[in-house]
Amino acid sequence: MNHAIYLDGNATSPVLPAAIDAAVRAMRECYGNPSSGHSAGLRARALLDGARRRAVRLLGAGSGRLMFNSGATEGIQSAVLSALCALRERRAQGEDIGTLLVYGATEHKAVPESLAHWNRLLGLHLRLAALPVDGDGLHDLPALRALAPQAALVCTMAANNETGIVSDLAGIERVLNETRSQAYWLVDCVQALGKMKLDLARTRIDYAPFSGHKLYAPKGIGMLYVRDGAPYTPLIVGGGQEAALRSGTENTAGVAALDAVLAALEQGDVLRGDEELHAFRAQLADALRAAFPAIVFNAPFAQSLPTTLNFSVPGLSSRELTDVFDAAGVSVSAGSACSSAKAAPSHVLEAMGLPQWRSASAIRISFGALTDADTIAEACRRIARCGTALSTGGLFAAGGGQAPGDGVLQLGSGAQCSWLVQDAASRACVVIDPQPEFAERIAAGLHGQGYQVLAVLGTTPGADLTTLSRALNLPPALDAFGWPADGDVLALGGQLIRRIACGTDRFSYLLGTETDSGMAPAAVRHAFIGDADPRQLAALLDPDTLLCAARDAQQPFCSSLRAGQLAAPESGAPMQLDAGALQALLLRRPDAVLVDVRERHEYAAGAGTQLAGRTALSVPLARLTGHVAGWLRGAGAPLIFVCRSGARSAKAAHCLRRLGYQHAYTLEGGIALV
Ligand code: PLP
Repeated sequence: MNHAIYLDGNATSPVLPAAIDAAVRAMRECYGNPSSGHSAGLRARALLDGARRRAVRLLGAGSGRLMFNSGATEGIQSAVLSALCALRERRAQGEDIGTLLVYGATEHKAVPESLAHWNRLLGLHLRLAALPVDGDGLHDLPALRALAPQAALVCTMAANNETGIVSDLAGIERVLNETRSQAYWLVDCVQALGKMKLDLARTRIDYAPFSGHKLYAPKGIGMLYVRDGAPYTPLIVGGGQEAALRSGTENTAGVAALDAVLAALEQGDVLRGDEELHAFRAQLADALRAAFPAIVFNAPFAQSLPTTLNFSVPGLSSRELTDVFDAAGVSVSAGSACSSAKAAPSHVLEAMGLPQWRSASAIRISFGALTDADTIAEACRRIARCGTALSTGGLFAAGGGQAPGDGVLQLGSGAQCSWLVQDAASRACVVIDPQPEFAERIAAGLHGQGYQVLAVLGTTPGADLTTLSRALNLPPALDAFGWPADGDVLALGGQLIRRIACGTDRFSYLLGTETDSGMAPAAVRHAFIGDADPRQLAALLDPDTLLCAARDAQQPFCSSLRAGQLAAPESGAPMQLDAGALQALLLRRPDAVLVDVRERHEYAAGAGTQLAGRTALSVPLARLTGHVAGWLRGAGAPLIFVCRSGARSAKAAHCLRRLGYQHAYTLEGGIALV
């Protein structure tokens, strides 16, 4: 695969080469303890002092205090602790400090979490109040005006990490001044460093945390500005380093690296200027619009940092989009980095009042001032590939993009799943146990592929068959199970679907071929059993007939009568292969088959999956059951399942092993690590 293009700069950035050099130099030459009096210590001290002077100059920190620490989360803790300790003291002396801890509704979670934590620990019992933002993500200043008289502390970020929206800090300051608010003011400046002019000492900002790793310095180094006169209580005490504001032997290598970045900022010709960054954003936005014509951008460009684009695409989840971008070799994120591991909608976009689908499916592209024109141009080419892959490699298509899909397809939604049986040669298909929420997508997808739906079948009479039948304009069925014809057999290309009554109120559907004497058990490849007990059908089935149930909560995909009897289904050779074991197996077994279980569009966006000189077969998990029947009847060649992270491929390998296929493997850690 091509080398990945990193467009997730708001999560963290790569490290500036000069910063790497500075860190290495510091470790080689300035390894002394800055508190030591000998020459090694003095050299380290000089490094710290020089870096601090530069930071003070760049941030306009004036006579304020500026300490180095581990990053913004620590800076936020220190600031909140300091403000709350001072508030507690003032209240103990009888002062009316107000009742509210006000924070912008779009703050990074570190802010409200710290407020709640220290408020509880210090027993202040102030009320946390979220300051709303408008549809453009800007703080609601009239709401702040109403809250300010009761505010003890106000926390507002300079620029938002998910949307890039730049706050109106001057407007906030005006409201605080006009309302004669006594509140302390914390401004999270993490995303502003190097991107916005800050003149801290000219403002009433009391606390401003910064983080090195958002601007080309390494992780674990940050800064906190504290206004001259603002209260301060150390979070960490001990040896009295950093003028006793933050104890612990200083991270001189980190400070040296951060200083190199600040020097680059000061120099002005290393990092790209605003004009170029705006042009890059326009180029990316044009590429996105061309690839996804229905795209909506979630933040107005005029109010955002040029390095952040946040968007949603109707009909595409953030998971589908991040997967396809990843497959094309473009690293982006769903919302913020912290929340992208969880499937929760973005609290930032929710606070802006965007519709749920937009906040749940948002994607963030963020780059930095070191990104060059070639990278942006290549990113645009890959974005175009993502658009094509998503429009042609849909759920119902075959590996070749527009070609019609064939065989058994599973459509899962939570615990429930539906099944689709497609016959590409006759362009006919049957849907079993459809879920109403999939109706539009199934109807549109099958229509796009030119499929005629012969029947929409249910295994129980309670199934909602009408939503899909209506979407497909099907004639009324003969009964509550959707059966369309006389008799119990339906022809589907070269195969047949035979329905079997299971008790008085259930049907199962057997898929296979029939001879004059009927459908022999060995000829039944798949049995769609709904929630029936398959043992009822034992006489009609082969031990390896694949049982396709209406529930798939644990994602076994399919089962078989044999699998139900296997004592230790996962015995045999270890299932997980690392890169070395993969190479060894491929050398030993030239017949081994690589199977990429990512979605079709991911496979297509990556222009096919090549590992160890072999091209993988594309079998998305939804089509696994359709392929398993053939593999079980084949020669037993090793099957090596791969996907992006190793999670989906492990499920596929488990499924095969459970069915008694001993030579099923998964590539541990996924393609990302090879
Ligand atoms: N504040 C904002 C706006 C951020 O984007 C981040 C990082 O995601 C943080 C705070 C936390 O910074 P750090 O990773 O340095 O603790």
